[in-house]
Amino acid sequence: MKQEIETLDVGRIIYDVPLKDYNTYHVGGVGKALVIVENKEALKKIIKELNQNNEKWKIIGNGSNLIFPDGFYDGILISLEKLDAMEITGTEIYVEAGYSLAKLSIKAAKASLTGLEFAGGIPGTIGGAIFMNAGAYKSDMGYLVKEVAYLDENLEEKVLKNKDCDFHYRTSYFKKHPNCVCLSTKLELKHGVKELIFSVMEDRRIRRLESQPLEYPSAGSVFRNPEGDYAGRLIESLGYKGKLYGGAMVSEKHANFIINKNNATASDIVGLIEDIQKNVKKKYGVDLKLEQEIVK
Ligand SMILES: Cc1cc2nc3c(=O)[nH]c(=O)nc-3n(C[C@H](O)[C@H](O)[C@H](O)COP(=O)(O)OP(=O)(O)OC[C@H]3O[C@@H](n4cnc5c(N)ncnc54)[C@H](O)[C@@H]3O)c2cc1C
Repeated sequence: MKQEIETLDVGRIIYDVPLKDYNTYHVGGVGKALVIVENKEALKKIIKELNQNNEKWKIIGNGSNLIFPDGFYDGILISLEKLDAMEITGTEIYVEAGYSLAKLSIKAAKASLTGLEFAGGIPGTIGGAIFMNAGAYKSDMGYLVKEVAYLDENLEEKVLKNKDCDFHYRTSYFKKHPNCVCLSTKLELKHGVKELIFSVMEDRRIRRLESQPLEYPSAGSVFRNPEGDYAGRLIESLGYKGKLYGGAMVSEKHANFIINKNNATASDIVGLIEDIQKNVKKKYGVDLKLEQEIVK
């Protein structure tokens, strides 16, 4: 397989990739390979080849919502970091999937555009944000997206208008179709007052610093909030704050964050997740659903 991939000339390839370096928890063993595709054509070529050879593949953004497995991962990871064009025209932003969401929120603020203030502290890419409809402070990508250009399962380029993207709380059409790849999006923002936009973002940055364990590796909120309640409240009420499971720990600042406290493994994190789910179910009858993704 190595030779087939190399002759395609699709971009940089890292074999036996240390997964720890590609997710914000810093966990995981070794992956078969990571391909950093040069452009859209290279992306199509590599996926076609992998599909023909029945090779498992997965797109990664910044790995800020992922738990990679310990040991060997027998899939090929594909990074879109080189798909990072961005252009602002009036109130519309065209941006490719590999662009940083947090960086985009600053660019928008500098252009006096309001709407992306919520995204300042979300350490993902545009592709990852669309996939899971990232959001905060009662806003999310679904409020801004006009359309998304993507590759469908047959590697054909298609466009979905907002109404067809199926954006809901931390989900989208793409989450339900994991073999589709977001290529780019057009966002519609509004004119605003630059100083006000920056002051809202600064306020939220301070709130995050105070309420989230940003000094430790994590992948953000572990569980989705159940209807009408907060996962963090349920977990905290069971005395989980500060609970250690191997090297993983429930944050003392925020009970819906698991942190990599001391060289945690993926099994430590998953073990703690399962322990929390079991006990929350036992005490409250609530099934806590994972917001993060355990890569298999
Ligand atoms: C400190 C911290 C705070 C966070 N706060 C928030 C928050 O406030 N709100 C929030 O919503 N999230 C938050 N997150 C979680 C995370 O940042 C978001 O879910 C983000 O959108 C994930 O983007 P990513 O590029 O890192 O995706 P990854 O984690 O790399 O991937 C996530 C999924 O998206 C898929 N994917 C990625 N790119 C594409 C693409 N181009 N096409 C198709 N599929 C793709 C991957 O295959 C994977 O299934 C936080 C995380 C951290 C570490």
